Amino acid sequence: MEHAAKHPFVSKEQLVAIAERYPTPFHLYDEAGIRANAEAVLDAFSWNPGFREYFAVKANPNPALIKILAEYGCGCDCSSYTELLIARALGITGEKIMFSSNDTPAEDFALARELGAIVNFDDISHIPFFEEVAGPVPATVSCRFNPGGLFRLANGIMDNPGDSKYGMTEEQLFEAYRMLRDRGAKEFGLHAFLASNTHGNDYYPALARILFELAVRLSRECGVHVGFVNLSGGVGIPYRPDEEPCDIRAIGEGVRRAYEEVLVLAGMGDVAIFCEMGRFMLGPYGCLVTRAIHEKRIYKDYLGVDASAVDLIRPAMYGAYHHITVMGQAGGPDKSAWAATRTYDVTGCLCENNDKFAIDRELPEVERGDLLVIHDTGAHGYSMGYNYNGRLRSAEVLLREDGSTELIRRAEKPSDYFATLDLQI
Ligand SMILES: *Cc1c(COP(=O)(O)O)cnc(C)c1O
Repeated sequence: MEHAAKHPFVSKEQLVAIAERYPTPFHLYDEAGIRANAEAVLDAFSWNPGFREYFAVKANPNPALIKILAEYGCGCDCSSYTELLIARALGITGEKIMFSSNDTPAEDFALARELGAIVNFDDISHIPFFEEVAGPVPATVSCRFNPGGLFRLANGIMDNPGDSKYGMTEEQLFEAYRMLRDRGAKEFGLHAFLASNTHGNDYYPALARILFELAVRLSRECGVHVGFVNLSGGVGIPYRPDEEPCDIRAIGEGVRRAYEEVLVLAGMGDVAIFCEMGRFMLGPYGCLVTRAIHEKRIYKDYLGVDASAVDLIRPAMYGAYHHITVMGQAGGPDKSAWAATRTYDVTGCLCENNDKFAIDRELPEVERGDLLVIHDTGAHGYSMGYNYNGRLRSAEVLLREDGSTELIRRAEKPSDYFATLDLQI
């Protein structure tokens, strides 16, 4: 099969100019791509008047990017105290915050209550805990479901909820609904996240059908009004060049079919569809821009770049594939369409042998100084960063629709790394 090409969202000339302004490494984001995708998501679910995407802040907590999504009506899916603070700082409060946490600290619940967030309870024991530390349960609440066992679709096993720490059993869910009802909750939601980075268009429709059927039973047996079903995250993106992107319109249609067949038939045609996509909203619209600084030839050929796993940990952590395009450098040829003639391990500088962006990757010949684009870092990229080896996290730059650029987060400095110490450097 012929491999589809995977093209960066910037040209070599554009990137050379950007890298003259901002030292590498940095994450670069594509405003035009973010906007077009957000519109497509809204459009795919426009059949559901209450639809809302709560962007999963953990995927990319940069306020400049969340602000763009907020223009499309997106709320914030937060799961920690600081993520709640980010939402508050952007003026996103009340029911525009979905608080989907787990193993939740007391102060997080207290802040969620103060902001009027919708609280999505991960466990039945969190209900009395919430009352103890945050006050009365909010009027609008949600519970997270874990069906256990294996989650299968027609094309195979998708994931293993029986082995996951999240959510409540079905029995607990019914009990939790009654408990919340008796404590004064008025509007109920149902949530589940059963598989991550899914491919094809069947995941949301299958999950929706499970949750819709459960919502009908919960509503009848507990005598409550189910106001929304939250499909959470999990819609995937094509990290590899031979993968097909998900078709959000087909996904929206699949959910609509299940909605009509289950909810409308049960007289529950007023349920809003919520989701908490992170990866699908931003993943493809970010890349990590890095420069080749060393080439080392021992038993294998290593290409040393100036980014490391502190900027993007997914390859080290999950063996995740991120496509790489060699762009070239100022005054040199545009290598972005060159054929692969070499095989490299592309490495960062951490004293950790898993600090490799790619292993045995076929790439064009790279010279020291060449710019490389590591694709699809817009979600779970910068946000998973850390400071191992005293390495400092990179900057983030937004490529505006008009071609201009804006620094939306400066790179860390040594003083940031030392800020939690009382130390004279
Ligand atoms: C991580 C997460 C998301 C986002 O997942 P994606 O795979 O990025 O879409 C949404 N909701 C919850 C509760 C999560 O933990």
